[in-house]
Amino acid sequence: MKTQWDRVGYRFGDKCVVLRGYIVGSARDAVYWKKTLFGRWLLMSSHHMTEETLPAYISEIRRFKPRFIQSYPSTAALLARYMTEHGIDPFPTVRAVLCGSENLYPWQRSLLEEAFGCRVFSWYGNSEQTVLAGECEESTHYHIFPEYGIVELIGRDGRPVANPGELGEVVATNLTNYVCPLIRYRTMDLATAAQGPCTCGRHYPLLERVEGRIQDFIVTGKGELLSGITMNIDTDAFDNVKQFQFYQEKVGEVVLNVVRKPAFGDSDAEYLYREVSRSCGDDVTVTIRYVDNIPLTTRGKYRYFVQNLPVHFGEREMAKIEHGSSDIPA
Ligand SMILES: [Zn+2]
Repeated sequence: MKTQWDRVGYRFGDKCVVLRGYIVGSARDAVYWKKTLFGRWLLMSSHHMTEETLPAYISEIRRFKPRFIQSYPSTAALLARYMTEHGIDPFPTVRAVLCGSENLYPWQRSLLEEAFGCRVFSWYGNSEQTVLAGECEESTHYHIFPEYGIVELIGRDGRPVANPGELGEVVATNLTNYVCPLIRYRTMDLATAAQGPCTCGRHYPLLERVEGRIQDFIVTGKGELLSGITMNIDTDAFDNVKQFQFYQEKVGEVVLNVVRKPAFGDSDAEYLYREVSRSCGDDVTVTIRYVDNIPLTTRGKYRYFVQNLPVHFGEREMAKIEHGSSDIPA
């Protein structure tokens, strides 16, 4: 992580705002943040960020003068959306936003870059510590650290992915764990290979995109997997939407739960339905449901998609889902 952050100019001791699912103090006492690391890091609770509390968060960040913001993409997006909607200027001291632990969707990247007026750097890793990869100064491809773990991309047919742009499951062997090594561990994350080397001159193997957990894919009526990250919904369709969450429990059908803003009207409903149906394609039926709120996960993350089907990437395993059997070996 230090090597990764060195690339964006982070030096040990730089002031950072951290928005990564911490619960700090209690909402009743209106304590939403605390300092740590001798006052260099400001940990802010992502559980308590609401329309009412966000102005206080924003003035505290401005007072703290951080050089970096480390964040879950969804948490940073919440803050960024509030700032752009209310015409709030970016924090002048922030040099970059460092995002990890969740998919970074293209619309989130542009929102964050607009609101914070700086580059967003994303990294990809897992808690089993078999893979670590991150963007560099010159591209948004993920550079895989081979000194940390050996990464293979395995296609649906069970063979290594041969061509750039092709989708595969990340299968990784860690090189740092001498107590319980994981060898060719199936991460259940899908990524696409990229053509190297990068123009930055580092000869790391590259991933073009990390599409996220297999469990974050929509299963179409034909049994194909549709990635949320490549879904190309016009974000204007969500202008009068306060929160949203897709979920799926039947093959070829997806439900979009929506928390409406007061201004949400019939034309918004129509536009939203049209846009979502278009980007889901012909093999997915979309239903929109209106709800009062969408809770965060226990880890303080905001999930845009909840998949209740057991999704697998291999052809043999997928065939079982299409035939209605849930008896699938892990
Ligand atoms: Zn590079």
